Amino acid sequence: MNKGLYIHIPFCRKKCAYCDFYSVHHSKELAERYTEAVIRNINAYGGKFDTVYFGGGTPILLAEHIGRMLKAADIAKGAEITAEANPCEMEPHTLETLLKAGVNRISVGVQSFCDKELSALGRRHDSNTARRAILAAKASGFDNISADLMLAVPHQTRDSLARTLDAMCGLPVSHISAYMLKIEPDTPFGRNPPEVPDEDSTADMYLQTVEALAQNGFAQYEISNFAKKGCECAHNLKYWRREEYLGIGPAAHSFCDGRRFAVARDVGDFINSPVQKELLTDEAPDEYEERVMLGLRLSEGIEESLWKPFETSLRRVPKNYYRIENGRLSLTAEGFLLSNEIISLLLADQ
Ligand code: SF4
Repeated sequence: MNKGLYIHIPFCRKKCAYCDFYSVHHSKELAERYTEAVIRNINAYGGKFDTVYFGGGTPILLAEHIGRMLKAADIAKGAEITAEANPCEMEPHTLETLLKAGVNRISVGVQSFCDKELSALGRRHDSNTARRAILAAKASGFDNISADLMLAVPHQTRDSLARTLDAMCGLPVSHISAYMLKIEPDTPFGRNPPEVPDEDSTADMYLQTVEALAQNGFAQYEISNFAKKGCECAHNLKYWRREEYLGIGPAAHSFCDGRRFAVARDVGDFINSPVQKELLTDEAPDEYEERVMLGLRLSEGIEESLWKPFETSLRRVPKNYYRIENGRLSLTAEGFLLSNEIISLLLADQ
């Protein structure tokens, strides 16, 4: 079976206040050596891929190298090939370079269309830059454009979120990822926490997002992901459906040939090693538990053979938190808000 290929591009021009993804300062010299290391690893692992995802960091900073990396990989015809992009870097010629390299899906880190919120997050772009970036992607020939949206950020209110959602839905995007801000310890926000909306307001804003996106033709297919028909992210679906993927680069994770491993957050070590060093990740739950945990993130839910074993515990879950349709159990939007608690309760009796 074809796998997914994740390539981490660990470079950013500036660190955002909330972000703990692994990245270092970008330089041309480092980008060249990094590209060579990625290609060495693609050759060493081999395999055939039907999705490729360049995540980061800021993959668009390596736009001129992405074609070489893709050429090194055996990619199935019609594969989904995504690159994450920062609105500040989405110049028409850069977008054309990505398209020519074979990238056919772009994921834009918009986060908000409210300038006060963007500035509090430490983002380099403002709302106009984000708007222009999405329009430039469309004009360059990208038909599959995803936008990231962040919930529960400093200064966000139901009104400002409504304006952001309106702006986003008015642009040519076919996919929206809406994540709640998480304060990570080893970040400027972790060291000096900002004031953010409380838990009840955050829950309200999540439900507001689900409703507004549904009204605009974006169906929810995962806790945080929404798509126009046929535009779900095939690469990310592999994670939730427990299909195999190879991760290349520092901080990348893999589920490959039945093994799970990660790579250390150290760009120098990655560049200087003939093949990336695999570190075993914390012990994964058993396959059954993992299928339940991952499957209940998806709106398609899990099949009957997976939920039958905890049918009795399910009676303790309020009815508005889940549904059973055509034999499949799935969580509702209200249920998604409490998915960790619900899944723990269901699996506790196993
Ligand atoms: S949010 Fe994106 S651009 Fe900002 S520091 Fe993290 S990876 Fe870099």
